[in-house]
Amino acid sequence: MIKNATILWSYGKKDMITISQAQNSKAVMFHDLGSGHMVQANQHLIIKNDETMILDPGGHKVYTSLFSQLSSVVKSTSIKYLFFSHQDPDIIAAANGWLMMTDARAFLSELWMRFIPHFGIDQYVIDRITPIPDEGMLVNLGGIDLKFIPAHFLHSSGNFQVYDPELKILYTGDLGASLGAPWQETDDFDAHVQYMDPFHRRYIPCRKAMKMWANTARKLDIEIIAPQHGAMIKTPVAVEKFINWIDGLECGLDLMGDSFPVP
Ligand code: FE
Repeated sequence: MIKNATILWSYGKKDMITISQAQNSKAVMFHDLGSGHMVQANQHLIIKNDETMILDPGGHKVYTSLFSQLSSVVKSTSIKYLFFSHQDPDIIAAANGWLMMTDARAFLSELWMRFIPHFGIDQYVIDRITPIPDEGMLVNLGGIDLKFIPAHFLHSSGNFQVYDPELKILYTGDLGASLGAPWQETDDFDAHVQYMDPFHRRYIPCRKAMKMWANTARKLDIEIIAPQHGAMIKTPVAVEKFINWIDGLECGLDLMGDSFPVP
């Protein structure tokens, strides 16, 4: 069941979806460029007036596929920014390739700047990665200010989401991740929640972070939640249900006892 989606073309299972668009503005998602045992991951493109930001571009094998398929959507010279929501390998492992093959500037939480050189970032491209301060920042893409919104501990301790105020999309990284859902987008929150529940209970450290996020999300006008894994949540009604679910969910430390088991 795929609702409201425009699937432009498929390479086997590798679908590219236009999430939303307006004049001179487009949001595009590659849904399944991975292979083998890799966790499914989405790569998002925000395109505004011929400037492109790639969000969480993925690891080495995804890099090869994504780079070759990008030319169908944008010119590689339009890639102005790379956004890394946090430090996980499914996001940042191929950072060096992207920095070598494009002139893009990248953004990453200041917490992780000393760690990612271990992924093999060459000395002479590292200065093109801008540390994002803990309080977040604005970045102008094609005339629109995108907001890098703090979402620390969801799940990474230095973690950001991107809000596009023009298309009203919140790119939530690992928050809203679903695994195994048989759809790529949904407006049926009640049917979808079962695919999100186990991930959030185990990977998100505590309820306080969830509550902070819900309080923040309610200040934004959101029509689409676009996570890095699994399906998008569309329509304001489904988005509101999602925010309310996050707000009340016990997870991580809330569910743990007083000590760890000793094997
Ligand atoms: Fe992660």
